[in-house]
Amino acid sequence: MFSKKRTNESTDSYLTKLTAIKEKIGQADAVVIGAGAGLSTAAGFTYSGERFDRYFSDFAANYHFSDMYSGGFYHYDTLEEYWAYWSRYIYVNRYMDAPTDLYDRLLALVKDKDYFVLTTNVDHCFQKAGFDKSRLFYTQGDYGLFQCSKPCHRGTYDNEETVKKMVVSQGYCIEEGELTVPEGTQIRCTVPTELVPRCPRCGRPMSMNLRADNTFVQDAGWDAAAKRYEKFMEDHRGQNVVFLELGVGYNTPGIIKYNFWKYAYNWRNAFYVCINKGDAYVPKEIENKTVGVDADLAEVIEKTSSLT
Ligand SMILES: [Zn+2]
Repeated sequence: MFSKKRTNESTDSYLTKLTAIKEKIGQADAVVIGAGAGLSTAAGFTYSGERFDRYFSDFAANYHFSDMYSGGFYHYDTLEEYWAYWSRYIYVNRYMDAPTDLYDRLLALVKDKDYFVLTTNVDHCFQKAGFDKSRLFYTQGDYGLFQCSKPCHRGTYDNEETVKKMVVSQGYCIEEGELTVPEGTQIRCTVPTELVPRCPRCGRPMSMNLRADNTFVQDAGWDAAAKRYEKFMEDHRGQNVVFLELGVGYNTPGIIKYNFWKYAYNWRNAFYVCINKGDAYVPKEIENKTVGVDADLAEVIEKTSSLT
């Protein structure tokens, strides 16, 4: 349905675009944020390099992988090793604060508007930054929830306490949210068997509540968030709505990107903003009501929010 057009950075000045974004948000009846992996990467949640080395160098040496994604796909021999890896992963990516204040700046940009957030991210950064929980729809799950791995029922379970216990059992201390290694402690890549989380109904191992395959549990919280999103869109049908797409790639474009294009196309007063480094495509059919910014997200949000 839509053709693609690469934004022309040479004819539209960067600052003009940011000013337009700020103005459009200011005038909007509502703002719908669509956030993908690029937003959390821009906030400092990187899955390789320094962050990986700091928390997973022992796993890297033992199992020969060099980033957190690969570690997530590794087939560990035992559940005890599997959960040693995943508890650390969940702790640093879900329970620790984002390394930068990007999400706080984003909140400042929309907090006085009627807003809603649709995201494929599962790291809960929006909630941690203070976005209104009733205005968030995490479509792909949450690192902070366990579910039965079969699943034998549609329940999900808050995992904060269990994850912290598993991390501490490997030798870490948790100090002001950070993981520290007490002097002389050898960190272990395993957890005690009794800490391996199991389904309270059938006793099978738990798994993360992530849409990785067809075992994903859409619990009552998921359904309620989906309904709130639907109602928000219904309530604002045809209004002056800004669709603010941040760091969304082409892994699951049907959830945010293609929907935003359709709304921008069908709603006369809608406006579409796409901010993504290296991939800020703008469909020709909506180019007169779109701003595409091919630049670093953190810088764009910082500059835009500080414009007067
Ligand atoms: Zn079960």
